Amino acid sequence: MDTRLREFEYIKIQKYVPELDLLSNPLLRPEEKEFLAEFYEFLEKDLDKDLKALEELNYYVEEPTQNKKRDIVIHVMKKLADKGYYSTILNTEDYEVGRITRNALIAYALCGGRWSESSESYIAGNYSVEMGRLSGGTLFCNPVNYKATEQQKEKFLFPVAKDGQIGASAMTEFNAGSDIFRMELNLQVKNDKVIVKGKKVFITNGMIADYIIVYGRLNNGPLGAVIMDTENQQLKNFRSARIRTYGMTDAFVSRLIFDKVEIPIENLLQGNGLDIAFHQLTEERLVISAEALGDAMKKLLYSHTYALHRKQFEKRLHQYQVIRFPISKNIREMNLLVSALIHYTRELDRRPELASSKIMAANAMGLKISATELGFESAIHCFRTMGGRGFIRQYSNPIGLLDPYCMIHGGGSNYVLENSESRRFFKYKPTRRELEDVIPRIDY
Ligand SMILES: Cc1cc2nc3c(=O)[nH]c(=O)nc-3n(C[C@H](O)[C@H](O)[C@H](O)COP(=O)(O)OP(=O)(O)OC[C@H]3O[C@@H](n4cnc5c(N)ncnc54)[C@H](O)[C@@H]3O)c2cc1C
Repeated sequence: MDTRLREFEYIKIQKYVPELDLLSNPLLRPEEKEFLAEFYEFLEKDLDKDLKALEELNYYVEEPTQNKKRDIVIHVMKKLADKGYYSTILNTEDYEVGRITRNALIAYALCGGRWSESSESYIAGNYSVEMGRLSGGTLFCNPVNYKATEQQKEKFLFPVAKDGQIGASAMTEFNAGSDIFRMELNLQVKNDKVIVKGKKVFITNGMIADYIIVYGRLNNGPLGAVIMDTENQQLKNFRSARIRTYGMTDAFVSRLIFDKVEIPIENLLQGNGLDIAFHQLTEERLVISAEALGDAMKKLLYSHTYALHRKQFEKRLHQYQVIRFPISKNIREMNLLVSALIHYTRELDRRPELASSKIMAANAMGLKISATELGFESAIHCFRTMGGRGFIRQYSNPIGLLDPYCMIHGGGSNYVLENSESRRFFKYKPTRRELEDVIPRIDY
């Protein structure tokens, strides 16, 4: 049964807003514009139909939709991989635009969508699908590329990065969320096998993944990482199930149970688990920032359109400052953050050694906090502008209204990041003299 109310009209974006179009941003270089324009064309020609079909499935109740959604998402990832848009880790020499800048531009465009001049309509993006792309294409592929042997790459990296099989990265546990170091999952190394015992939670792509990088404790000791081939989710003693979320509904966020799953020892990655997980942290933070900014752009476009068309008290909503001001303020902020993003990604592409710079990681963390909070705020303004409509699926789905709420936690919770940032700022080592001054006073 279709639950949409016919009396409610679809919000049809009809006006091109140059300030909300990344292609018209004077900061972008010609080669970056060309890359982005090609991606937008691909989004319109190759993905739009699939993304609309995915959205449609949200309106039917009393009908099973999960398998249909899974098939669409898997199909979309394959299409992205065929064009080199899933992972940007391979064939870097084929492109004029750097790897991390490409990753960020794809993330922005896939979340935000774009006004199409040719069809004079808005081609919407999908934040959930981008989350799936990030998890497989970056959070799985980058650590594997960092530590895998040539044989491991052949077996686990290329099927994902080249052929678009689904990858996932499993860190979070019930007792180890923000505090990753509290991980308990055991990777018991025994003869020629790694026996995995434990649970993971909130794993994007978990229940549709072909390959999962699983982090845990090697023989209950130091952290390590192993790659698991899920054998089409049929691997013995492994179970996965979807978590019902209120946003990011197509990212297949899952819980995983490993009940003594046996994995060949050849799948173990060499090195420390934390180093494997975190060496690509700066890139991840920048891509998440790009996602949030693309998403904020989409929310602003919807609020703007609705404010132009909806009439109350005999005036259009945009005639009220209380509606208009927050939208224009957010557009200003969005463009400032986009400028920072482009500078950071270009610089990281130019000087890959910056990936291990603490200041660069902190700057990327600051951008992630600001960008995801802007996404959150834009969703609030969108919700407020739309009144009761924002509250029903018919409108909140196409806009992905609740997606940015999840991203305050996804990729490292903002509050934890802010806490560590403030601790860093206030870190202070007293001099010996200062200590000597204080100690006698305390004694006295
Ligand atoms: C959409 C989505 C997708 C995800 N995908 C994945 C995935 O693919 N793989 C994966 O491994 N994980 C994934 N996660 C999990 C995510 O990384 C965790 O949710 C996150 O690390 C927070 O952990 P937690 O939920 O256990 O919260 P907790 O750690 O319990 O935190 C609860 C609250 O306390 C705050 N807090 C905790 N410590 C501090 C501190 N030191 N200072 C200040 N505040 C603090 C937090 O900010 C938070 O607000 C995903 C999460 C979401 C929402």
